[in-house]
Formats: sequence, structure tokens, C-alpha cells
Amino acid sequence: PGGNYETDAVIIGAGPVGLFQVFELGLLEIKAHVIDSLAAVGGQCVELYPDKPIYDIPAIPSCTGQELTDGLLKQIEPFGPTFHLGQEVTVVHKREDGRFDVETSLGTKFITKTIFIAAGVGSFQPRTMKVDGIDAYEGSQLFYRVKDPAQFEGKNLVICGGGDSALDWALNFVGKAESVVLLHRREDFRAAPASVAKMKQLCEEYEMQLIIGQVSGIEEKDGKLSELRVTGADGVTRRVPLDMLLVFYGLSPKLGPIAEWGLDIERKQLKVVSTEKFETNVPGIFAVGDINTYPGKKKLILSGFHEAALAAFGAAPYIFPDKKIHMQYTTTSPKLHKVLGVE
Ligand code: FAD
Repeated sequence: PGGNYETDAVIIGAGPVGLFQVFELGLLEIKAHVIDSLAAVGGQCVELYPDKPIYDIPAIPSCTGQELTDGLLKQIEPFGPTFHLGQEVTVVHKREDGRFDVETSLGTKFITKTIFIAAGVGSFQPRTMKVDGIDAYEGSQLFYRVKDPAQFEGKNLVICGGGDSALDWALNFVGKAESVVLLHRREDFRAAPASVAKMKQLCEEYEMQLIIGQVSGIEEKDGKLSELRVTGADGVTRRVPLDMLLVFYGLSPKLGPIAEWGLDIERKQLKVVSTEKFETNVPGIFAVGDINTYPGKKKLILSGFHEAALAAFGAAPYIFPDKKIHMQYTTTSPKLHKVLGVE
């Protein structure tokens, strides 16, 4: 993280459409930096359905969300995109010289001639716990992600959630934390069956504890969060003392900072001026994939791929003002073979 870059193109979002945007820009010899708030590339395909098959990618009768992503990464390899993951784009600002300043939540800075917003349904943010007064402890005793595991060692931990993140971290901290309580609102888990079995075994061995219930309130002592009030399925409220609270309620997408960049927005989507270039109302900023809207828009991966191709051609004049850009076939063009490295 960090660093300053000057570039021709910044792509916001590493979902399938952002990844394919790298390819279409690459064919026109435009190099790109790709930023995503998630730690992994693939957008919804990897975050929401990595193992589910997709059946409507042309010429690929069936592939999972993860396989599609892996294929796209391989396809764009010749163009050597630079990835900046785990950071959200917070600032987009037009400069006097016509280029843009782009900044991320980790302080990485770019000056770029063009921007491609492939932000899908927005950047995925952890779902927060909605309990009166609890927000004040975020970052000191309440955490939605584990950045530094050492910080939780030797502590009395309560881990909330019923998915893989909650289970994985609960299992991880058994033996390292002073105590581990897993708190989930119901008996079924959305996590890998093997992790659930392991957790139940550890509970039987008194290495950790499982509580079925919901946090209904908190107790504070000397400015610290000292106890949770947990209401069980039986309607009884119990007190659970703790040092640290880890909450894994999944991720939900938020349009977030994109709403503040002066772009025309209609029902949380970016309006494009035309379906010739997929450019927004700000010249030099393009919107492709699920984030954009226009008459007839369908939120499909294949539509996003098409949009990425036309947006690349639309952007080329900003980068090569004096060059005439012609479309060429990848099968027959010696120039494209050269850029693809398949000579
Ligand atoms: P996304 O995949 O949403 O990726 C956008 C990325 O941008 C995200 O990773 C996000 O973190 C990032 N981002 C957003 N804002 C910022 C920011 N400010 N800074 C940094 N990063 C940011 N489509 C099909 O065509 N066929 C199918 O069979 C199909 N099945 C589906 C099944 C399910 C369960 C779901 C949920 C969707 C399905 N879709 C399917 C839809 C398809 O997944 C989407 O159309 C596709 O993912 C859109 O790609 P995208 O690249 O535009 O956006």
C-alpha cells in the first residue's frame, strides 16, 4: 500500500468486468492499474458464488465464479496490470491539466488520464452489529476484520457469526486466546461442514463455547466494554463477559464514495451519456458492468464485457490524441500478436 503513480488508466473494481477492461485496454496498448476494496479479485463471482456454475458466458458452457476469474486473470497476464487490493477508492478529482487525481483508503495516489469505474454493486463492506452504544468500541474492542491476530491472543474473545470467517477465526484462536465464545443466532451454520464439526468437538472438550442467541445490549465499566447481554432462543438474557468482540456478519455492498464524485446517478447506478462509449457525464470517466445504467441495460457479465470493449475505444483519444485507432482482429493482426506476446 501507499505510493504514487502516474498512469493512462485506472480501473476501479476487479470484478469480471474490471478484469476484462484490462484486456480491452491492453489490446490498444493502454496500461492499467486496478484497485479493489476486497483482498481478492473476482468481484461478485468470487465473493458471492465462487463454486456455483455460470452457464451464459459465450463459448464456455459452464464455469464457476472462481474459474471465470482465474480464466480472466490468465487472459490479461500479457498486459501486466498492477493490482492494488484491500483498498477502497475514496477520492476522484479532476485536475487543472485535465487528468484526474485518484486516492485510496490506504493513501495510494494516482494521476491518470482516464478512469474506468467497474464497481459493480459498490464496494463490499462488513455488515455491522446494530446494538445501542457498541459503535464507540470499533477499533478498540469491536472488530469486523482481523488485521493483526496477535492483538487477540491471551484475550477473552466473543466471535459472532455463522459463516466461514466466524468459524475459521474461532478455531484459529482456540489455544491462543484466553477463552473463545462463538455466538450465533441459530443452530445452522453457513460454514464448511468440517469446520462446524471441529467447533462442536472443541466445545465438547471445553476448549471453547457455543452460545445460540443474539446480542441485545452491552455493559460498560471504566470506559470499556465489559459484558454483552445475550438473549437466547429460550428468551433468557445472559451476561457474557469479554475483552474483545469479533463480528463476521458477511459483507454488503455500498455505493460509498462514488456518490461524491460529481457523476450522474440514477437509482444507485452511474448514467452513461451513450452506449457508444459508456462515458459518464464527466469526460474521461467511463462506467462499465453492473454499476452503469442506460436504456435496455441488463446486469450480465457478457454485457459488461461488450461495454469494456467500447469504453476502451472511447478512451483511446484521451491517451493517444494524435493516433487513429483501428479495430483489429486478434486472430490475424501481427500488431495484436505482438502486444499479446504470441508472435
Ligand atoms: P462486481 O462483480 O460487482 O465487482 C465490482 C468490484 O468493485 C467489487 O469487487 C468491489 O469490491 C469493487 N469496488 C466497488 N467500489 C469500489 C471502490 N470505491 N473502491 C475499490 N473497489 C470498489 N451474471 C451472469 O452473466 N451470469 C450468471 O449466471 C450470473 N449469476 C449470478 C449469481 C449470483 C448469485 C449473483 C449475485 C450474480 C450473478 N450474476 C451473473 C451477475 C454477475 O455476477 C455480475 O453481473 C458481475 O459480477 C458484474 O461484474 P462487475 O465487474 O461489473 O462488478
